[in-house]
Amino acid sequence: MMPNILSSDSKALTEKDLQNKESSITTKAIDKNNKQNRSESYTKSEGWFKTELKWMNIVTISLLHLCFVYACFTFNFFENLMTTAWIYGMIIIAGFGVTGGVHRLWTHKAYKAKWQLRIILVVLYASAGMNDIFEWVRDHRVHHKYTDTDADPHNSNRGFFFSHVGWLMMKKHPDVIRRGCEIDMSDVLADPIAVFAIKYSPILKFIFTFLLPIMFPVYAWNETWFRAFVSQIFIRYILVLNFTWSVNSVAHIWGSRPYDAHINPTENLFVNYATVGEGYHNYHHVFPWDYKASEFNNFVTTNLIKFFSKIGWAYDLKEPSKELVKTVMRKRGDGSHSLWEAVPYPASKIE
Ligand SMILES: [Zn+2]
Ligand SMILES: [Zn+2]
Repeated sequence: MMPNILSSDSKALTEKDLQNKESSITTKAIDKNNKQNRSESYTKSEGWFKTELKWMNIVTISLLHLCFVYACFTFNFFENLMTTAWIYGMIIIAGFGVTGGVHRLWTHKAYKAKWQLRIILVVLYASAGMNDIFEWVRDHRVHHKYTDTDADPHNSNRGFFFSHVGWLMMKKHPDVIRRGCEIDMSDVLADPIAVFAIKYSPILKFIFTFLLPIMFPVYAWNETWFRAFVSQIFIRYILVLNFTWSVNSVAHIWGSRPYDAHINPTENLFVNYATVGEGYHNYHHVFPWDYKASEFNNFVTTNLIKFFSKIGWAYDLKEPSKELVKTVMRKRGDGSHSLWEAVPYPASKIE
């Protein structure tokens, strides 16, 4: 049986739903106006900056982004193509640590990994320079359980900026803190490799986000320290952060909703390329326990998990049956799925 790892009241669907689909998969009229006006009405009723600002984060994030813009205009990407390729290489490396590691493995338990792969994922995740694994997993589980409500750390109904980066610039909404405390994190704390990474997060981050990625081009192909620093910190690091944040912002605002028209998350190709395979976000919110994070996804992260499963380091890869996906898509989707034309229009949609 496919586990629903989040909670009994999560919106995630399992095979059980298929058996009992008449009661569990409800058909509602698509109220597009309601969806479009949600952001506006939230702003009017709740206000924007009710919570206290984190000035340290505001200054740091703003300065880094100013440096990013300056570096993009002044850095000569053609002076040494190896250095430019290393920017892309580190985006993939860090991207796999985030998507394959802290997201699909530790948050959603969409597959299991042997200690060898978990060590690799800890190192790769550290190279993304984000919060420690405990904080990331807890926030993301809250995000799935209370998507786009006050308890969602990056509630997209508060607008693009808040869901992209604004949420990191202010204290959390009391509901986020309350719900975050209720999240069961025992599985993460039972993994000694994850616990080690949480305990030594600052030092691991320093080594794998900053030190080694900068040293590598200097010693491998005689890049200058200055260019190695600018390319890895001001360009690559900021790109990785923004690509990851775009899942919470772009992929909750723009795109289609083939699997559930009644939620904000969307399918967005730009986000998919930027995040090495996490842009099928409408699907992911409906089936968060699918190791592919997409119905058809054969992108970088999924292929790497498949590779590790071939050598035995990844196992118990979970995914829903095609029948369940099709049923959900027809009952709740917005009609944009490519299979929509191939199946009879459901009577429930005509009423
Ligand atoms: Zn989401
Ligand atoms: Zn997720």
